[in-house]
Amino acid sequence: MSTQDLHELGVAGLSAQLAAGKVSSVEVTQHFLNRIARHDSLGAFLATNAEVSLAQARAADARLAAGERTPLLGVPLAHKDVFVTRDFPTTAASKMLENYRSPFDATVVANLASTGMVTLGKLNCDEFAMGSGNENSAYKPVKNPWDASCVPGGSSGGSAAAVAARLIPAATGTDTGGSIRQPAAFTGITGIKPTYGRCSRYGMVAFASSLDQAGPMAHSALDCALLLSAMASPDPDRDSTSLDLPVIDYASNLIAASAGEAGATPLKGLRIGLPTQFFGAGCSADVLAAVRGALSEFEKLGATLVDVSLPLTELSIPVYYVIAPAEASSNLSRFDGVRYGHRAADYADLTDMYKKSRSEGFGDEVKRRIMIGTYVLSHGYYDAYYLKAQKIRRLIAQDFQTAFTQCDVIAGPVAPSVAWKIGEKSSDPVASYLADIYTLSSSLAGLPGMSIPAGFGAGGMPVGLQLIGNYLKEGQLLRAAHQFQLATDWHQKAPGISA
Ligand code: GLN
Repeated sequence: MSTQDLHELGVAGLSAQLAAGKVSSVEVTQHFLNRIARHDSLGAFLATNAEVSLAQARAADARLAAGERTPLLGVPLAHKDVFVTRDFPTTAASKMLENYRSPFDATVVANLASTGMVTLGKLNCDEFAMGSGNENSAYKPVKNPWDASCVPGGSSGGSAAAVAARLIPAATGTDTGGSIRQPAAFTGITGIKPTYGRCSRYGMVAFASSLDQAGPMAHSALDCALLLSAMASPDPDRDSTSLDLPVIDYASNLIAASAGEAGATPLKGLRIGLPTQFFGAGCSADVLAAVRGALSEFEKLGATLVDVSLPLTELSIPVYYVIAPAEASSNLSRFDGVRYGHRAADYADLTDMYKKSRSEGFGDEVKRRIMIGTYVLSHGYYDAYYLKAQKIRRLIAQDFQTAFTQCDVIAGPVAPSVAWKIGEKSSDPVASYLADIYTLSSSLAGLPGMSIPAGFGAGGMPVGLQLIGNYLKEGQLLRAAHQFQLATDWHQKAPGISA
């Protein structure tokens, strides 16, 4: 393979080239750095540092030369800018953290670095991961590489756009209410949000702590499997909600399973539940057509489709938009201009300093959430809003358990439409909240979910199929997605981006 086409390869492909000595990590890293520089107009990156990346690549080459062969060694990726990193600034796409430099690496970043992966930089996102279109970045919006007039989804929009445009082979993302799955769907890539607690939240700038979860975004389910095994780890001393369970080698399981399942119906026995609430009038016809097309492919692979019900689906929107802002208002209280982050230049006294620093540092959407969150937690409203939302959250989680008595995985659309135009929803925040309808309920329940490319809809824009699993069933989701991707090529379609 010529080094000109290296960006066509995903993680597994690059790994094979590196292991065979056909290319060095320095060459691969330089290739992607060149592409990032050339396609800067997408707005996907907030920071790069060629010197740092190339030093990491040289270290990986030395390990390769010494005979080490591990799957991620020397393969580059980039991190959503909510993971703190020692070697690059971390801003959470907020003016509040402009030029902030963390003294330590997030656990997910450290885990990936220890495998010998090379960091290419930090990726743009919605400010503090609040948004669905990446228009809430304090620095610049991200463009969708399939159509630069459209959003790439959010909040992990930089991660999605950069992977889709093949500026990087893979990225980390975070998902609080859909921020891995929805941008993956809008840009035609594969992304998985694992079970809450699978990956440590240590060093992830906190949005809503009971929902935040890290996950990989890449070309394929196999690539996501390789990354997830490296990202996940128990971290009991630093994140008490991280699950104290052994890490699973998802990729080896996929490869072993597909060898054992050779034949026309590798997914025989898999029951896929279709919640009636995900297939109603609220979803646009082009998205439904692509999703149904993908589901019939699953049937050909041996899976059976069964109707299930998630009756509280609609309530997931008000419940999420009470709980997430409540937690955000608490988490963001640390940005007071005293300890770190932006501090106003002129102020009369301490209260004025807090006020001015926070007014100047936070953007509109973040302020809106702080106000909603403070309101629903305040005395007199707490029972009516926050407590009520928590009770419904429990019922939403129970509905999933009822559904899982009838099926193994749940499938449906990721979002009710393809990517919208930049600016289309920016004057009406509630319109973008409503578009989160299919991702919020599984986040509230803490379940794993993924998005896989399933075709194209209006305007030739990508459509994602969502797969939701029961707790800790990431392996099952990845296996179903991998079999689908062995039989189809939607995940190999990339937007026409020049060299
Ligand atoms: N769109 C949702 C929100 O704005 C989800 C964001 C996320 O998952 N980080 O809160």
